[in-house]
Amino acid sequence: MSKKLLHADQEDGKGKKDWKETVIQALGFYRNTPYVSEYQREANVRSSMFMSFVLMVLEVWMILRYIYRYFYLMPDKYDITVSSFFHYTRNYWTLLLVGLTMFLYGVFFLKKKVHFPKLSDVWITLFAGICLGFGVYVSFDDFQRGKMIICFLTMILYVACMLIWRPIISAVMLATLAYGFHELLENRALDKETGELIGINSGDNINYIMYIISLIMVAISIYNQRHREARKAEDLYISSLTDELTGLPNMHSFSESCEAYVKEVAAPGVNLVYLFFDIENFKTYNEQMGHVKGDRFLKRVGEIIGECFPGEPHARQSDDHFVVLTLEQEYEKRMEQVLEKVAQIRDYEGYIAMKVGGFKPRDLQLAPRLCVDKARYAVTFAKNRSDQYYSEYDEKMDAAFHQREYVLNNIDKAVKNDYIKVYYQPVMSSQNEHLDGCEALARWIDPEVGFLSPGSFIPILEESRQIHKLDSRIYEIVCQDLRRSLDQGLPIVPVSLNFSRLDFELMDAVEVLEGYASKYDIPRKYFHVEITESALTSDVEGLKREMDRFHALGYSIWLDDFGSGYSSMNVLKDFNFDLMKIDMVFLRGFHENEKAKVILRNIVRLAQEMGMMTLTEGVETREAVDFLEDIGCGRLQGYFFGKPMPYGDLYEKIGSGEYRVSEEEA
Ligand code: C2E
Ligand code: CA
Ligand code: CA
Repeated sequence: MSKKLLHADQEDGKGKKDWKETVIQALGFYRNTPYVSEYQREANVRSSMFMSFVLMVLEVWMILRYIYRYFYLMPDKYDITVSSFFHYTRNYWTLLLVGLTMFLYGVFFLKKKVHFPKLSDVWITLFAGICLGFGVYVSFDDFQRGKMIICFLTMILYVACMLIWRPIISAVMLATLAYGFHELLENRALDKETGELIGINSGDNINYIMYIISLIMVAISIYNQRHREARKAEDLYISSLTDELTGLPNMHSFSESCEAYVKEVAAPGVNLVYLFFDIENFKTYNEQMGHVKGDRFLKRVGEIIGECFPGEPHARQSDDHFVVLTLEQEYEKRMEQVLEKVAQIRDYEGYIAMKVGGFKPRDLQLAPRLCVDKARYAVTFAKNRSDQYYSEYDEKMDAAFHQREYVLNNIDKAVKNDYIKVYYQPVMSSQNEHLDGCEALARWIDPEVGFLSPGSFIPILEESRQIHKLDSRIYEIVCQDLRRSLDQGLPIVPVSLNFSRLDFELMDAVEVLEGYASKYDIPRKYFHVEITESALTSDVEGLKREMDRFHALGYSIWLDDFGSGYSSMNVLKDFNFDLMKIDMVFLRGFHENEKAKVILRNIVRLAQEMGMMTLTEGVETREAVDFLEDIGCGRLQGYFFGKPMPYGDLYEKIGSGEYRVSEEEA
């Protein structure tokens, strides 16, 4: 049966069905999906259960009525023994037992305790057959006594309710049963008294036919109704398991298929590999080609992955990420096939390539999602490398992966339990080498894993969009430290605070700092807001607005890491920074390379001409200090003057006279 027929009932509204299709549809000549068949079967079991319950109640009532009649009302008239009691009521007992068995089967079936699909059909048919046989037997007898054939009519109604099969089957079955019984009455029924054949009068005939036709119509309409419901439920079920865009399974169903797959293939010597596919530069493709083409591209990639790994669990994880679980034997060949086929989709001039991360679990019971995370982690090592398209999760990555997991899982705890500390690095005035300020730098001192430097947690927090949690805590600690110094009448220098670009997205950064500054009552001149050069590349207008707000409140704003290579010099004209922090890359190789000096001298001049003060970072030698003083760089920061240190150490050094605080600051 074609797919067209399968979906015939869905075409309402999209175009007219022709009469052939309508007839085919009405009679039920189409193939049902396993889901729809199962749905119909379950509905039949459910109605059989209800019917069997009704039957049990009826039979119990019949037995009680018998007892009431013969034992209570007329105990003397009949001499009834236990065996004759069972003899006369055996039909009731039989039906009661059959009903009970059907009822219990229904309960177990619906609770998914027993599940023999075909057996259910046989069992219900048998049950219906017994009921119907009883109806034929009783009504035939009644008819011969001149009574009505109610029992047969009831039982055929029963059958119609329990065996809701596709229209053509229901119709043929009910019509045959009705015709058969009719023929029996017409040709075999003899009057009990006269012994003559009794026909059916024409009025009853018409009623009988009408009854059967109505019954058939009801059965068909119930079937069609259930069929529509089943299709809807199936659609919902499928969409809960698939990715809408590519039609591939989603991660939920991927996990389930992986578990089943592992069970199926697990054997000594069988190794599996999780592959994580990432399309490099897909964002640019999307931007340049448009989202419609982008979607089409992803769909095609999904198809390719399905073609190259047939019968193995695969899914679209998110965005331009796909995952596969496959056997280790041939994975490299198949992975290359994917890359080749994807390369053939070329409808784009720019660079686009697939990168793959692999993870080979030693323990096959490891949760699929964790395995995918590891493969995903591995792919980051193949990205941005033209010589490598595949990277496999190894021991070294494992350590970094765990560190990453640790940071992500513990940042809230670290903030709450004060594991986050602020270290201060001195900033010197180049005129007199007095302490002119300091930069607040985050440290994570963890009772479990020890000392963590920002390089090992800041990128992770930025990538997971949690950096604001750390930064707002840093701002508060700095305010608390400044308040302490103010209260104790200690000399004070302004503190530079680092702002990540994401801080402006993830929180109202101005509001947060302003909130702490007000709470601890710190004059705004004691803060320098450091915004790194890399932040200038996106949402220029938004960032300018935030900078204006800072300026209006009296904060000065410093441009951090100038020259580190993230933005072009051209962006300088769009922003109003008060000071330019020249990145430490310029001091690298300073001693051997005369050109480094030329560059530094000109950057300082450029900044001055644009009305910015200057500071050079990473100053490690006397020679560098002298040179920078000579070219007029206003401030200096680096290990030559001191590494970042705790608040207490800073004040110890101030107290001991190692750092002299600039007069204007003190
Ligand atoms: P940054 O803002 O450029 O901070 C200066 C970094 O250079 C600090 O590293 C400092 O210890 C280091 N440094 C200073 N002088 C010298 C020197 O003479 N030689 C060398 N080789 N290095 C020097 P740190 O503390 O490890 O911080 C690294 C980066 O982490 C910072 O770079 C900053 O981008 C980020 N960071 C640190 N704390 C925070 C924070 O609280 N919030 C945010 N958002 N980022 C932070
Ligand atoms: Ca900084
Ligand atoms: Ca810097």
